[in-house]
Amino acid sequence: MSRGETPQLDDGAPTRVGLFGGTFDPPHVGHLVTAINVHHALDLDLVIMMVANVPWQKDGSREITPVEDRLAMVSAAVASVPGLVPGRQEIDLGGNSYTADTLSVLSREYPRAELFTIVGDDAAAGLHTWERSAEVLAQSQLVVVDRPGAPVVLDADVDWIRVEVPRLEVSSTDLRSRFSDGRPLDYLLTNPVLEVIDERSLYLVTEGGRG
Ligand code: ATP
Ligand code: MG
Repeated sequence: MSRGETPQLDDGAPTRVGLFGGTFDPPHVGHLVTAINVHHALDLDLVIMMVANVPWQKDGSREITPVEDRLAMVSAAVASVPGLVPGRQEIDLGGNSYTADTLSVLSREYPRAELFTIVGDDAAAGLHTWERSAEVLAQSQLVVVDRPGAPVVLDADVDWIRVEVPRLEVSSTDLRSRFSDGRPLDYLLTNPVLEVIDERSLYLVTEGGRG
């Protein structure tokens, strides 16, 4: 993303920037509803939907869609949504994606901004397993959003805030399985994302099912 495409305040610099990272394989309405509601609730200038280059905690467990395809889907998802932008900084960094490194990049890109790291309950529960999680907490305000399932319990010394968002029981895992067995995708993904999926022939099933 070039700087020219970034929404900015009148004086040219965002002051409240949200980082919402994910594999986004594919991005779905749960991601969008979360980003839009946190943007509103915390009065953020922008929320960056940051596409993980190598989601190392998922690596090896399944085949992950190429990162440029995931970026194309995220770009399509947010194209018409004010305040949401796709992030390719982790792609540009290369290698495994660590939020601590991403925040360092963002703090150079937005030197006057307060940074917010936005995660769902399930991701927050794994915070202690993140690379340099203390740095993440020092560099940004942790924001946890609801996701169906048990609410996360974080260590008492972790400084975090909760933002209430509509709980949508949608996951990329469920969507991938819908692609493979042909169940409907309607209203779980937005049409611009479906168009990218069709154009790039993603999530094709070789035998049976959709594709
Ligand atoms: P997968 O099933 O492949 O793990 P996912 O749907 O969990 O995909 P991710 O890309 O892993 O999506 O998640 C990125 C971020 O979005 C995480 O912080 C996760 O908690 C959050 N998130 C994903 N789905 C939802 C949802 N339905 N509601 C709220 N937050 C969500
Ligand atoms: Mg997930």
